[in-house]
Amino acid sequence: MLIGGLAIFAGCQNNKTVPAEKAITAAEIKKYISALANDSMMGRKPFTAGEDKAIKYISEQFKLAGLEPGNNGSYFQDVPMVQITSTPSPIMEITGGKAPLSLHATTDFVTFSRREVDSVTLKNSPLVFAGYGVVAPEYHWNDYAGLDVKGKTVVVLVNDPGFKNGDPTFFKGDTMTYYGRWTYKYEEAARQGAAGVLIIHQKEPASYGWEVVANSNTGAKLYLQQKDKHMNRCKVEGWITEDMGKKLLAEAGITGDFRALARKKDFKAIPLKQSVTLTINNQLKYSTSHNVIGTLKGSSQPGEYVLYTAHWDHLGIGKPDAKGDSIYNGAVDNADGVAAIISVAKAFNTAKEKPKRSIVFLAVTAEEQGLLGSEYYATHPIYPVNKTVADLNMDALGDYGETKDIAVTGKGQNDLEDYVDELVKAQGLSTVGDRHPGAGSYYRSDHFNFAKVGIPALDINNGSISVIHDGSYGEAKQKDYGDNRYHQQADNYTDTMDATGMAQIANILYEVGTKLSNETTFPGWKKGSEFKAIRDKSMK
Ligand SMILES: [Zn+2]
Repeated sequence: MLIGGLAIFAGCQNNKTVPAEKAITAAEIKKYISALANDSMMGRKPFTAGEDKAIKYISEQFKLAGLEPGNNGSYFQDVPMVQITSTPSPIMEITGGKAPLSLHATTDFVTFSRREVDSVTLKNSPLVFAGYGVVAPEYHWNDYAGLDVKGKTVVVLVNDPGFKNGDPTFFKGDTMTYYGRWTYKYEEAARQGAAGVLIIHQKEPASYGWEVVANSNTGAKLYLQQKDKHMNRCKVEGWITEDMGKKLLAEAGITGDFRALARKKDFKAIPLKQSVTLTINNQLKYSTSHNVIGTLKGSSQPGEYVLYTAHWDHLGIGKPDAKGDSIYNGAVDNADGVAAIISVAKAFNTAKEKPKRSIVFLAVTAEEQGLLGSEYYATHPIYPVNKTVADLNMDALGDYGETKDIAVTGKGQNDLEDYVDELVKAQGLSTVGDRHPGAGSYYRSDHFNFAKVGIPALDINNGSISVIHDGSYGEAKQKDYGDNRYHQQADNYTDTMDATGMAQIANILYEVGTKLSNETTFPGWKKGSEFKAIRDKSMK
């Protein structure tokens, strides 16, 4: 109904019935952002009064948009979490080498434990260099082949073997696969039964410096509560600096380019002939946050679902900035994404033709704390995973107007981007990949948790080529946001905010969702995607 081509008829003077406008307007999106990013929402931090206000507002808007409660009569899904504050002993002792080595907390290493116990200890745990720490059947790669790591601590490299190898067909070249993410390294080491796992930090393959590792790994961390109290995880997870990594490897005779060594097809894990001793004390605190969920029932295939997601949480209240502002309102991150899904819900409800499949709208909590609300839904789904056709996610939509290019996060993953491609081509636009494929952005927002359980997931945003401004405008605005507002108190709503780009993205995903909701087929993952196998299995 709303494809761009129809607007042409609006120019025909006697025709008053065909609307030239898109379903979702910038003005409407701004109305929701101004409420969600208002100081009264106190920065929408989980477990605070700001959470209560934000989730109440969102559920009311879902109701006004005509959505039914999505969770057995309720608009809320409880998300039980545990906060763990890990304090490691100030020194990590390494013995067995020519001379004992003492690593200092925060300067040389960071460690934490997800196990919900008061303390964990590694005592003389043998160190093993397991290369990239990757088991990837689709690439015929297994760094743990023939290795028994029980009781041992594995030392692994960040990113994946394809990074800076010069061959775009080896893994995904410089585009990071999930095997390159630190979260994966910890998961795999746990699956292998290792006692500890330490990642050697290197700035280029990590895409951030040691200070980021140090800042984000000291202090309290939030996790989802697990039945087994995370006892399946390694006792100790952590990072060491590149310098310390080199020292450990040198003791075992590994010098020179160890990334190149670990990338070799015949690479086998190497015992480092040293062992590690460390204790971590944990402080535990249990709390419950909430996802907000509303549903529009499909007219003829109500048992199949198209899912829209956006995280409602942000960073709360902190210290005042230079202007005296202490509230992290997160207008762009991510009041605008929530505003967009409310607007999409309204558009579906007021459309002439009701969708054949059901549409589910999910505003998730604790994205900023590690994508926890989406992880909880994906692992405790209210609607069956193999009946969920797609996840369409919006996070931090651009505030610099419509763009000629539409950025697809992690381009090349699944068929959903072809829907976007076809749609925007008809509007004279094009799709592009995200700006930093090596940084693994596909694995850094909520859509990823749906991908992980096999649901084709798509996240799009404005590109950098402005429709009405000159060539450098888009990039300058993106840089301005990154430098001056991203995760800062200044991410505020203003009446002059340009929400036309947000409306553009919301309209595209509304149209993609409309198409998906009227089909009988299920889109899939592209060949080579690390998520294809799990989807294929769950669809059997
Ligand atoms: Zn954020």
